[in-house]
Amino acid sequence: MWKGKFTHMNINSGNKPHVLVLGGGSVGMNVAAELRKKAGNNVAITVVDTRPYLTYQPFLPEVGAGAIDPRNVLAPLRKVLQGTKVVTGAVEKISHADRVVTVALEGEESIEISYDYLVVGLGSVPRTLPIPGLAENAIGFKWVEEAVAVRDRILSNLAEAASTKDPETRKRLLTFTFVGGGFAGSEALAEAEDMVSAALQYYPDLHPSDVRFVMIEAMGRILPEVGEELGKYALKQFRERGIEVKLETFLNSCENGIVKTSDGDEFASDLIVWCAGIKPNPVLENSDLPLNQTGRLDCLADLRVKSEDGPLEGVFAAGDCTTVPDLASGEGKVCPPNAQHAVRQAKTLADNVARAIDSRPLVDYYHKNLGTMATLGMFKGVGTLFIGDKKVELKGLPAWLGARAYHVYAMPTLGRKAGVVAGWASSLLGNREILGIAQTTEPRKAFELAAASTPKKK
Ligand SMILES: Cc1cc2nc3c(=O)[nH]c(=O)nc-3n(C[C@H](O)[C@H](O)[C@H](O)COP(=O)(O)OP(=O)(O)OC[C@H]3O[C@@H](n4cnc5c(N)ncnc54)[C@H](O)[C@@H]3O)c2cc1C
Repeated sequence: MWKGKFTHMNINSGNKPHVLVLGGGSVGMNVAAELRKKAGNNVAITVVDTRPYLTYQPFLPEVGAGAIDPRNVLAPLRKVLQGTKVVTGAVEKISHADRVVTVALEGEESIEISYDYLVVGLGSVPRTLPIPGLAENAIGFKWVEEAVAVRDRILSNLAEAASTKDPETRKRLLTFTFVGGGFAGSEALAEAEDMVSAALQYYPDLHPSDVRFVMIEAMGRILPEVGEELGKYALKQFRERGIEVKLETFLNSCENGIVKTSDGDEFASDLIVWCAGIKPNPVLENSDLPLNQTGRLDCLADLRVKSEDGPLEGVFAAGDCTTVPDLASGEGKVCPPNAQHAVRQAKTLADNVARAIDSRPLVDYYHKNLGTMATLGMFKGVGTLFIGDKKVELKGLPAWLGARAYHVYAMPTLGRKAGVVAGWASSLLGNREILGIAQTTEPRKAFELAAASTPKKK
């Protein structure tokens, strides 16, 4: 039953079971929407997220490349989940023994929310390493704010570099380093490089050879998600585009923006983007839920969280913070952390919560991989597609079109889909973004300066 200390919140939950959903991302938002459809008004649903929106992460590389307006990759939770309580706050602690979650609210004391059923969809965070200078100088690529900052930094640097007389400054401004050659890193770098190539036509003072894009990858290949052959194809394409890919190389340090790599290279880089893997959300460590060796919640195929003594009563989880059996891939296999699984797990999970409330038997999550596709700049891409049991490999334009078509289909809300497509149409008509709005931590500074120059009233 609803027992939260929200004295100021008008929720008339009556005797309805209260389902508390932690995280409003690919898992959380879809669980809440689907559960409302399945259970109608017979449940009270609360979603807690630090952000008031879902971030459609597969589109972030195109946000970083100015090809998609940032707002179009965000789905506002309060609009999508009408009739559901949305709390904008940070989960701090989960105490399943007491069936209570502690949530920190901006500028207020923490609150406690009780639940009958708990859904954990808290996702992942970048997996960082103790590399000197990394925390101070690098940026992640998981949230829209980061993708926007990357876009603006790159485009602002072009303008600054075109004006500076100092060759060393110009070199630093035009050196962009991406660490990690997996899906996110490869897409983010390739899209950014494509944006720069297109923008350079407006910079007669800059030559393409002035710009240095560097990828640092610890393994001997990139894009393992699309298989060996396509990974090699992408690597060849990158190198033909002038992207420097350092394989079997580590980032040793990046203090003061000076990148030092394990192959002995050393260079100043004004942008260092860290895309070297993810780990489950560390807030789970502040809970009495059982975590496996990787820090994730082990789930049964019906998406109930598993403990040593069997399923935990009333606790379900899915997405990046879990290990879920991949029944379609065979014995012992687990689902990779991606949106394709997260969204579909959410639907099975919602169905199972509705079934648990009605004391009906639960169903197992089963999803056959549809394939994986990456866009690598305008008209460029790689990917695999499964049609029945047949695997089709796509390169270039077909892969690019396939990836764009799939993600428009998967992007929540009609309005956002339309926004994305309109932005693409505008880009195709030659309206690609070349302007970077320099990030400032003091947006009021210009106004303060203007006010300071105004004569004081006598
Ligand atoms: C750059 C990039 C590209 C990608 N491309 C693809 C792709 O092409 N195809 C694909 O299938 N997958 C892709 N993915 C992966 C995919 O986006 C994730 O696997 C998916 O979003 C996981 O869903 P989730 O619900 O588990 O986590 P998320 O969608 O990350 O949701 C977690 C939610 O929890 C919230 N949260 C976190 N901590 C707290 C807290 N303490 N309190 C309250 N709320 C909190 C977050 O704000 C977030 O809204 C990509 C990811 C990235 C970063």
